[in-house]
Formats: sequence, C-alpha cells, structure tokens
Amino acid sequence: MIKVFQWGLGAMGGGMARLVRERPGLVLVGAFDRRVEFQGRDLGEVAAFGGRCGVCVCSDPLAELQKCKPDVTLLATGSYVKDVYADLKCILNAGSNCITIAEEMAYAWQSHPQEAHDLDALAHRRGITLLGTGVNPGFVLDALVVMLSGVCGRVDSIFASRVNDLSPFGPTVMRTQGVGATPEAFAAGLENGTIVGHIGFRQSMDMMAAALGWMLDDIQEERQPIISRTQRIAPHVRVEPGQVAGCRHMARGLCSGKVVIELEHPQQVCPEAENMATGDMIRIQGDPSIEMHIHPEIPGGKATVNLAVNMIPAVAAARPGLLSMLELPIPRMTQG
Ligand code: NAD
Repeated sequence: MIKVFQWGLGAMGGGMARLVRERPGLVLVGAFDRRVEFQGRDLGEVAAFGGRCGVCVCSDPLAELQKCKPDVTLLATGSYVKDVYADLKCILNAGSNCITIAEEMAYAWQSHPQEAHDLDALAHRRGITLLGTGVNPGFVLDALVVMLSGVCGRVDSIFASRVNDLSPFGPTVMRTQGVGATPEAFAAGLENGTIVGHIGFRQSMDMMAAALGWMLDDIQEERQPIISRTQRIAPHVRVEPGQVAGCRHMARGLCSGKVVIELEHPQQVCPEAENMATGDMIRIQGDPSIEMHIHPEIPGGKATVNLAVNMIPAVAAARPGLLSMLELPIPRMTQG
C-alpha cells in the first residue's frame, strides 16, 4: 500500500482525496487545508466521500506528516512557486515524496532557477522525488507535444491550442482568469497582476524547448478578455452578459528571432452557452508534419485530479530530485 497525504482540499484536492480512496494500492493517511472550518473534521465529510473515513483534517501539517509518514503527498493549494515553496520544503523535510499541481512547478528550472535548485538539492538529500504536473501545464500543451515529436525526424515549429471549459475549477482559478469581472476590472486586473490568464505557458515552453534541445531567446505573451453575450452559471461563479467569461491567452516562443512554439489557450466557463466547441489541437511542422485533434477538450478538472493520482506509483518509485513529466515514465491509468 502507498500511503498518501492530501494537502489542500479545494476543487482539485477534494477530487484527489476521493480518487485515492477508491484506488486499490493507495491509502489516505492524512490531510490538511488552511481553512480552519475544515480542520478537526473527518476528511470524508470535508471532501464529500458520502460518509466518514476515519482520517481527520489536521491543523499542524508538519506534526501530522511526521506522525503518519506518507509515501507521497499531493499538494493542491496554489499556482506560484512563491506560494508553495515553503510548503514543499516542509513536505520534503518530513521525508515524503510530493506531487504538486502548482503550475509554476511543472518546469521551474528556467523561470525559478534558485528555488528549483534548492528543492532539487533538498529532495536529493532526503532521497525523495518532487514532481510538478497537471493537465496544463504538465500534459496537454507540453508533455503530449513532446511525446508526439518522438516520431519526427525533424521539428521546425509547434502550434498547440486548447479551447477549454473552466467551469469545474475552484475560486482560485476563477479569480486569476478574471471570470465574472467587468471588462474594465479585467483590464485593471491585468495591469496590477491580479488577473493573469493561464499560468504555466512559460513552463510549458521551457519544458518543450528543453526536450527538443532548443534555446528560446524570447517568450511573448498576450491576454484578451472573452466577453459573454449570455448569462453563464458555473459551480463557483455567475457571469452576466457583458461580463468576462474567460481569458484568451496566447504565447510565442522565439529562437533566433523566429517563432518556433506558438500556444493558444482561450479559457472560459460554459463555452457551450455560445456554441463554442472545445478541443485540444497539436500541430507539429517537421518531418513528418503531424496534426492531432481531441474533441471535446480533455476535461481539465478531472484530468488534473486523475493525472496527479495516476502518477503516485511512478513518483514513489522514481529517482530522487525535482523531476518533470519529461523524466517520469509515460503516464498511465494505474488501477492498483
Ligand atoms: P481551490 O481554490 O478550489 O482550492 C485550493 C485549496 O487550497 C483551498 O481549500 C485553500 O483553502 C487551500 N489552500 C491554499 N493555500 C493553502 C496552504 N498554504 N496550505 C493549505 N491549504 C491551502 O483551487 P483548485 O481548483 O483546487 O486548484 C488548486 C491549485 O491548483 C490552483 O492554484 C490551480 O491554479 C492549480 N491547478 C493546476 C492545474 C495544472 O494543470 N497544473 C490544474 C488545475 C488546478
């Protein structure tokens, strides 16, 4: 049995806890969320298992990690290295392998070299593995592209697009995408950094460039509001006509002045409300050129939960260090 600790019990963390509980070979041994109203309660009640499970949501994660000694901790709390760095160090110091879905941890070597080296060194000292993953970054617009390039003799350029439904995500994602904002508040949010669109283009670009042996000399990003013409109601947000339903975010990676990677990610809640078809598309120009379409899009919430849990056995068995999806075995659904 692989012992699992769930750190963060929001939309993603709650789903991970439910899936871990169902998987033979995995056992939940502890959980933490900074929300005081969760602490001291049975995890089964907090994460909607449909009954109690005998695991209490703790208020002191370090003490709890030291007590229950998990093999793998799933961290589903925030997006940025600055927000998860201290918690990652606590998890690694407690001797637990860790899988985080923080977007900036999917490939932090170029964007946060100091933190990446510190975490890598700590993981090596403790003989444990730290993996950043998730549907995107971590899979659709990077690892999957890299895998497709494996049948190419030459890659000249990459274009990949993900048109997705943000509805299943929690309040953190709604806020950072500007969902429900007025166009004016969206513009102000972009200006003051509270609205950021998709987090992780930089990490996806860096991961693909590293895999393909490209040196990117510039990454350019552009964000536009997607204004709703209809009312849209998602579990964590309500959007009125004229308000922002999401963010059209684009990024270009340049090599010697030439665009070699182009990523496009219009994300919104309830795209079906305006007959918008969702899907993932990857086009590699090279020898041979490859074009792959997935319709509808791989569902982000479910995919992130499933991928994080599916990576548990691989992470438990991996070599020590800070790893990315490039270094682990091909992801797979692992039943037991
Ligand atoms: P959410 O807002 O629903 O839940 C976050 C939970 O974490 C909340 O319960 C909050 O109380 C808790 N939390 C925050 N900081 C904490 C801390 N330091 N210690 C303990 N608990 C803490 O968000 P979500 O939809 O579950 O997503 C979680 C994070 O994962 C977000 O930052 C999101 O952007 C990211 N994410 C990444 C991917 C990916 O593909 N890599 C996919 C989905 C979500």
